[in-house]
Amino acid sequence: MSDPILVVGGGPAGLSAAHSLARAGQKVILVEKTDILGGAPIHSGYAKLVPSGEWAKDAIGSMVDRVTGNADIEVVTGDVVQSFDGKPGGFSVTLKSGRSFRTPAAILCSGFTHFDSVNKPEWGFGRFPDVVTTTQVEQMISSGAGVRRPSNGEKPKRVAILLCVGSRDRQIGRDWCSKICCSVSANMAMEIREELPDCHVYIYYMDIRTFGLLETKYYWKSQEEFKVKYIKARIAEVTSDGDKVIVKGEDTLVKRPITIPFDMVVHAIGMDPNTDNMTLSSVFGVDLEPHGFIDRQNTYGLFGGTSREGVLVAGSATGPETIDDSISQGAGAAMSALGFVRSLTAA
Ligand SMILES: Cc1cc2nc3c(=O)[nH]c(=O)nc-3n(C[C@H](O)[C@H](O)[C@H](O)COP(=O)(O)OP(=O)(O)OC[C@H]3O[C@@H](n4cnc5c(N)ncnc54)[C@H](O)[C@@H]3O)c2cc1C
Ligand code: SF4
Repeated sequence: MSDPILVVGGGPAGLSAAHSLARAGQKVILVEKTDILGGAPIHSGYAKLVPSGEWAKDAIGSMVDRVTGNADIEVVTGDVVQSFDGKPGGFSVTLKSGRSFRTPAAILCSGFTHFDSVNKPEWGFGRFPDVVTTTQVEQMISSGAGVRRPSNGEKPKRVAILLCVGSRDRQIGRDWCSKICCSVSANMAMEIREELPDCHVYIYYMDIRTFGLLETKYYWKSQEEFKVKYIKARIAEVTSDGDKVIVKGEDTLVKRPITIPFDMVVHAIGMDPNTDNMTLSSVFGVDLEPHGFIDRQNTYGLFGGTSREGVLVAGSATGPETIDDSISQGAGAAMSALGFVRSLTAA
């Protein structure tokens, strides 16, 4: 039996990697920096997930349970890796708490950081209380409080969801598409309409990227069954008259300026590289790709491989990914790590 494989991060990718390894009889140490497993869907209180429609706390909660209930997985929370030295097959790891152990390989599943909307000041977040983010609305729904205007607690009658906030925006150095926010926003629009049938919901977009089968389930359904309205626009600014929040911009289909007041404006925030990535890059000796995510090398040769042999990566640590893809990548990287460790034992 080899030393335990190190998994860094206890979100969907890390939970999947740890579980896949343990199912194959491999011992695992999972190191999570916060006190709670589950990653962004649990930390940020997501409501019903796209595309399963399951509540995040149930879907990801069951992934957490099967990891914490597995005797082959040791979970260490509230800690991070401080040093990682040695060679593939025999790395020595020291945690910030001072604990040390050996591991033959590591899988980095350290995820992403939500875009902070204060970096888009002209769109009103942090200046007007009724300008919120998708994660805040997810929390309103998942907590059972319902969607309410933060300024006065009232039910909104008109809501605008602005897509691509912190994504596809070269002016602020983020030219990537965050992949899932179109579908998440269409889903959220339907949830708002379901809870508040008198509330009109508008989605402001550049393009709609409800990719693959999600086109039917979210893009068309939200319009045809839930009467969500889509406006193709370039947004200039979000202001306020002291009560309403006002979205100003240009309708790019008819090429006319539009100024529309709303009770609430929701930023569909994107996925930034984990703010820990510079540290992770230096501690684990792995390269970052130009946007700041952890670079994957030769996916066709070794799934999840990084620039350092014996260190793999999975999930949104590599770039914007969905939960489904993060889970698949966690399992794929686990297979790569296992194959590597077994080849050492056989040699
Ligand atoms: C608003 C919003 C809504 C979304 N809704 C959906 C949805 O409905 N469906 C869907 O498929 N996707 C959704 N996503 C995307 C989803 O959040 C990601 O696909 C998913 O969280 C990626 O999982 P992960 O394990 O790769 O990363 P994360 O969920 O980010 O988990 C990473 C974990 O690693 C830990 N960590 C970070 N740094 C370190 C470190 N240095 N050491 C140790 N641990 C560390 C973190 O604390 C965290 O627990 C949404 C994204 C956003 C922004
Ligand atoms: S998924 Fe949609 S909202 Fe998100 S960045 Fe891509 S185009 Fe914009």
